[in-house]
Amino acid sequence: MKSKYTIATLGSHSALQILRGGKDEGFKTIVVCKKEHCQIYRYFRVADKVLEIHSYDEFPTVEDELLKENAILVPHASLIAYMSLDAVGKIRVPYYGNRRILLWESDRDRQRKWLEKAGLNLPRVYEDPDEIDGLCIVKFQGAKGGQGYFLARSSEEFRQKIGALKDYSIQEYVVGIPVYIHYFYSVIRGELELMGFDRRYESNVDAISRIPAGLQEGIDVTYTIVGNFPLFLRESLLPEVFKMGQRVVEASREVCEPGIFGPFCLETVVTPDLKFYVFEISARIVAGTNVFMEGSPYAYLKHGIPMTTGRRIALEIREAIEQGRLKEILG
Ligand code: AMP
Ligand code: AMP
Repeated sequence: MKSKYTIATLGSHSALQILRGGKDEGFKTIVVCKKEHCQIYRYFRVADKVLEIHSYDEFPTVEDELLKENAILVPHASLIAYMSLDAVGKIRVPYYGNRRILLWESDRDRQRKWLEKAGLNLPRVYEDPDEIDGLCIVKFQGAKGGQGYFLARSSEEFRQKIGALKDYSIQEYVVGIPVYIHYFYSVIRGELELMGFDRRYESNVDAISRIPAGLQEGIDVTYTIVGNFPLFLRESLLPEVFKMGQRVVEASREVCEPGIFGPFCLETVVTPDLKFYVFEISARIVAGTNVFMEGSPYAYLKHGIPMTTGRRIALEIREAIEQGRLKEILG
């Protein structure tokens, strides 16, 4: 039955993991990618078919082919970063996940409402730059991977650095260590799973400590994501991790029926008093899950095989097909 269906995704971000996971669960796979990225998917032999496009705007031109192959499209950040929300809304190929939750993820006021409803600790937000009274981080809209973010200590410093840029948000900078929590909510099994944790490797902020403090002056830090590291969390923190994930799922049902399902990530900073501050939610697979291409310790404990988030998505789709419940996981 499952061999009738194909797992498809865009070629970037976590496509290797998603496609390989599809194959591991017995699906055919298709990658849609820009010419310059195709070689990667051929080299790693994760895609049965590679559909080339010149730009992401051309995605609609391959939709008929995807429909013919009974494809189920698995979204990730590149889809959201390179296609507008409107274009994603118009995709005709069956889409894994709740597409409408992206409206809650992409709008920072809505996202905050959702996370507040879930009762999480959030960094303070400065609505007005004149309110800045401590270290803050200035961010820009969209899944742009930290590019251009900067720090400021006062409204004067903010004004000097922001220039003519618009569409920013100013958050209290929480001093602690970043922990990205990978969750998977299974509709078919009715259970929240913990898939793993990562931390990021960002240029140039992760380079600054390599320069003696006295020589750091004049170097502006920013947060462009380059890669990720795996992380194993102190075990006594796990109950809180599960509680936070569960509350996010419950609150999502109130804000956007039927709520969030499949993979999602809470992006947190943990302070020395072991409090998690959630500064963002990603409502789909995050690339940090790529560090567990052979499965994370937690996914191994749960499934007994090296289960990646990509494979977990395919397993969910397989079980949905086998139980005649596919509609419940498409949105
Ligand atoms: P890309 O297709 O690599 O240009 O990535 C598209 C978007 O996905 C970027 O703008 C980032 O926001 C996000 N992204 C890509 N790779 C990573 C990563 N390793 N960790 C976190 N976010 C990422
Ligand atoms: P983001 O693109 O929102 O995932 O954030 C990119 C980087 O900024 C990550 O390294 C985070 O650790 C850092 N960051 C974002 N928000 C905060 C915050 N409120 N306090 C401290 N660090 C933050």
